[in-house]
Amino acid sequence: MKVEEKYRYLFGPVPSRRLGLSLGVDLNPVKVCTENCVFCQIGRTTELTMARQEWVPTVEVLAEFDRWHAAGRRTDYVTLSGSGEPTMHTGFGEVLRHVKATSSFRTALLSNGSLFWMPEVRRDAAEADVVKVTLSAWDEDSFRRIHRPAEGLMFPRLLEGERMFRNEFAGLLWVEVMLLPGFNDAPAQVKAIAALANSLQANAIHLNTTTRPARAGLKVPRVPEAWLRTVATWFSPEAEIPVFAGRSVSPLDMSDAALLELLARHPLALDAMAASSGADLAAVERRLAPLVAAGQLAVEEHHGERMVRVNRP
Ligand code: SF4
Repeated sequence: MKVEEKYRYLFGPVPSRRLGLSLGVDLNPVKVCTENCVFCQIGRTTELTMARQEWVPTVEVLAEFDRWHAAGRRTDYVTLSGSGEPTMHTGFGEVLRHVKATSSFRTALLSNGSLFWMPEVRRDAAEADVVKVTLSAWDEDSFRRIHRPAEGLMFPRLLEGERMFRNEFAGLLWVEVMLLPGFNDAPAQVKAIAALANSLQANAIHLNTTTRPARAGLKVPRVPEAWLRTVATWFSPEAEIPVFAGRSVSPLDMSDAALLELLARHPLALDAMAASSGADLAAVERRLAPLVAAGQLAVEEHHGERMVRVNRP
């Protein structure tokens, strides 16, 4: 009988739109973040702060990665992401350095960019092969409405930090722009964001809209794909529209615990689960059915897709 090891800080590997297979490393307890974005899929930020500290023991994270790696597992990227803003953890640079020193995996940092005005954050972030930062606002007011930041976090500071990082960072910088109907998707608003995003001279700009149910307390609908395609040309380089791609461990081969852990962090479309793992859709449905019947998972329609998520008490 196959025994799956439990991991506390690692999750996946999950199929990532841009990174292929991505082993996630979660350095934040749920839910510590510098922002409380209206579109957040993890849930409402319960500890909204700019404080940087060792939120979870770095030594335990490194030991867990070593155990995972020693078991012969593979991934394309080891990615700092998860339940909050990874740069809030004072050991995030050490984790990046450790992965690079002990494995051949590439590293990625998915950040909201809010702390890049700090020199020590920029220095440690530069250890990653790929850094993705967010830029979905164009001024202080739009920043507050969309990201609902911690006290003291101002939009000019975030923008300046991201600009300084671009000037210092030789790796791949990706900028994610999240468009939300009624918040920042009007033509003049998108043009204002594009002007700022273009000034970052990113290697790629990813135009996104909500693709999973927001769990931060607001129902945020999706911007129509046709609009995304239209405004993509306003960005330089031209913005990329999300396409779900990547290989994944088949849900048919995962234990209940592993499935629940994966879906707790990444609500996934049924079709995407099947397509990304090469499994038959009907077989995936049969695999999930007992967990749905037991009330542990919920399947809900979200913009025409059947999303599977963990039922939280
Ligand atoms: S979307 Fe990211 S930055 Fe925004 S609240 Fe959620 S974890 Fe924090």
